[in-house]
Amino acid sequence: MSLPPASLANSVQQRAIRVLPDDVASKIAAGEVVERPASVVRELLDNAIDAGSRRVNIEIRGGGRELIRVIDDGSGIPAVDMPNAFLRHATSKISKADDLWAITTLGFRGEALFSIAAVSRTTLASRPKQSPAGHEITLEGGKFVSQAARGIPAGTVATVRDLFYNLPARLKFLKSAPAESAYIAGLVQQYALAHPSIRFMLTSEGRPTFQSPGNGELREATACVYGAEVSRSLLPVGLEPSDDQEVTAASPDGITVYGYASPPAVSRSNRSAMHFFINSRAVQSRMLQYAVEEAYHSLLMVGRHPISIINVTVDPSMLDVNVHPAKAEVKFRDDRATFSAVQRAVRSSLTAHVPAPVYGSRSNEGWALPSGDGEPTAPPAIDWDATANVPPQSSQSGLWSEGSRPLPDAGIEALPPPPPRNLPPLRVIGQVGTTYIIAEGPEGLFLVDQHAA
Ligand code: ADP
Ligand code: MG
Repeated sequence: MSLPPASLANSVQQRAIRVLPDDVASKIAAGEVVERPASVVRELLDNAIDAGSRRVNIEIRGGGRELIRVIDDGSGIPAVDMPNAFLRHATSKISKADDLWAITTLGFRGEALFSIAAVSRTTLASRPKQSPAGHEITLEGGKFVSQAARGIPAGTVATVRDLFYNLPARLKFLKSAPAESAYIAGLVQQYALAHPSIRFMLTSEGRPTFQSPGNGELREATACVYGAEVSRSLLPVGLEPSDDQEVTAASPDGITVYGYASPPAVSRSNRSAMHFFINSRAVQSRMLQYAVEEAYHSLLMVGRHPISIINVTVDPSMLDVNVHPAKAEVKFRDDRATFSAVQRAVRSSLTAHVPAPVYGSRSNEGWALPSGDGEPTAPPAIDWDATANVPPQSSQSGLWSEGSRPLPDAGIEALPPPPPRNLPPLRVIGQVGTTYIIAEGPEGLFLVDQHAA
């Protein structure tokens, strides 16, 4: 048996247990919430959304390390409450333990402003609509610096400078400014998809880089992120409602699923375009990814992944949102019901919208999707390069400018249309699952893998 090295044995013996000083404890706590600049943006966006904002502007410099500013037009914070907003576990969103099972806001832990202020120089300026003047408070490394009256439009401006200036070890884990900016851009896009009725605008290093229309249309928010062509190609997930706009599907368990998913011809080589929003909260969920990919079973080639924007609405009591410090994961009381609600909704959308290929009886051009007039047509080819850099739809002006603009996206690819095949005239006599066509030809039965075809 080997003994621990003498130095380790000594250090274990000599160390006494002690309660850490406040500034160490707060840096440890902040470390859980604020991993990188994008974590700050996430928390500030959550606060803006919880405040009922319709417009949210985000400005970053140095990949968010030098500056993150989030401006919203939400409810604002009364001057007397401003210092409290920075206390640990200080929140206006819950008041008792039972409330954890009825969370309808994105924030509830009361830790974000405390954590952000602990590892940066933070200024919060805010004015509720009914207050004649605004109020501003500044903290550095979690310590109060100053506060004063300040004239600002109704809403809140959170400014975070010099992130991790007092935590140099964390700085070493950050990536380059462009890489951190890309994380933030991806995050803002995700919020635009989760909240289509809020107009988000991102300015990076002084240049506007993303803007969503905020008109309530999920497909239009999707167009800003993935381009108009891809957005048009997406299939609605859920039941078509009578107004033909939003699609929803409620399962017997009260789980509602709605959103969009790509047709099998539009796919990606990674899962970064698979978005899941549980009660409007963006979450990472292997289980839901799996549910969607199961729905595509046999429709996508190995290594290909769909684009999916899936909103799941469940009763808050069926959900534990308090399982992750950054609230990026949730725990369902009934995993299986959620899994199958999502899988069913996506699968039925695919079966309804992706018609089984039929063989043109008058020609031998091969398998093709039927067009409206009954003539076989090849799937439309999409010029992804042309859609990747669509110019802004209108000029940017002022703080709350109009228009929308997708970021370039290089990862989306359409599979090429299948090559023409010379088959004898066939009579389709059935389909097995949604995978094989059984057809009768001059020399006997044909079993055709429709996706391979
Ligand atoms: P939480 O969001 O979990 O409550 P935070 O530390 O993020 O905790 O914020 C503390 C409180 O400050 C919030 O509960 C809210 O009352 C107030 N607050 C923070 N940001 C905003 C904002 N942008 N608009 C209005 N109120 C805000
Ligand atoms: Mg918050």
